[in-house]
Amino acid sequence: MIGCACPVCASRDARDQRLRTSAWIQAGPLDLIIDCGPDFRQQALRARVPKVDAILLTHEHNDHVSGLDDVRPYNFKSGKDIPIYAEPRVGQEIQKRFEYAFEEVNRYPGAPMLVSLPISASDPFAIGDLSIVPVEVMHGAMPVLGFRFGAFAYVTDMRTISENEMEKLKGVEVLVVNALHFHAHSTHMNVDLALEFIERLAPRQSYLTHISHRMGLYEEINPSLPAHVALGYDGLQFRV
Ligand SMILES: [Zn+2]
Ligand SMILES: [Zn+2]
Ligand SMILES: [Zn+2]
Repeated sequence: MIGCACPVCASRDARDQRLRTSAWIQAGPLDLIIDCGPDFRQQALRARVPKVDAILLTHEHNDHVSGLDDVRPYNFKSGKDIPIYAEPRVGQEIQKRFEYAFEEVNRYPGAPMLVSLPISASDPFAIGDLSIVPVEVMHGAMPVLGFRFGAFAYVTDMRTISENEMEKLKGVEVLVVNALHFHAHSTHMNVDLALEFIERLAPRQSYLTHISHRMGLYEEINPSLPAHVALGYDGLQFRV
């Protein structure tokens, strides 16, 4: 957190240095990115992401979309537009914020090349051979999307979920889910709510993400979690 001197912000442990929440999914030949926030450039350089075939957006908050301009080098390398899969509301919002990147004629040659592909919480879709089930969760009053890829699901910025949507997550083996810190919050789950949610789904392994500096130090908090739950950290990799 800019301007903060708390133990987490002052920590030298790399696992306490929390950039904005995002994920890189490799599925067969596909490289997919979930959310593209203001730290995307730094994250893509650090993880050496070689290409981006598509971006899935959970919602339009700036910490999830404001890095979209930085996908330009992938456009220059491939010569192709990058498809952005998002709900219509989210697609329209990013076309407003990054209007220059969606121009079909006379697009500035240095601009990112994006194309918006609308998806809906009620319709599973596919990218190449990969089937994706969108799951609607509530971010306070705002519906946002989580995504299920077979045995793996990724859910962020959730506060509540309906029973119907919960059904779509049944049987998931590995789960990434948001937990801000230990305090109550109106639009995010805290640790207690995230653990309740995890308990209902009982995946083999869960990772917490979208972690605030107020969560505390990795070294102190991670051992206090149940055995099948871990704090996520920047650069964490796993195979499903
Ligand atoms: Zn801090
Ligand atoms: Zn949000
Ligand atoms: Zn967020």
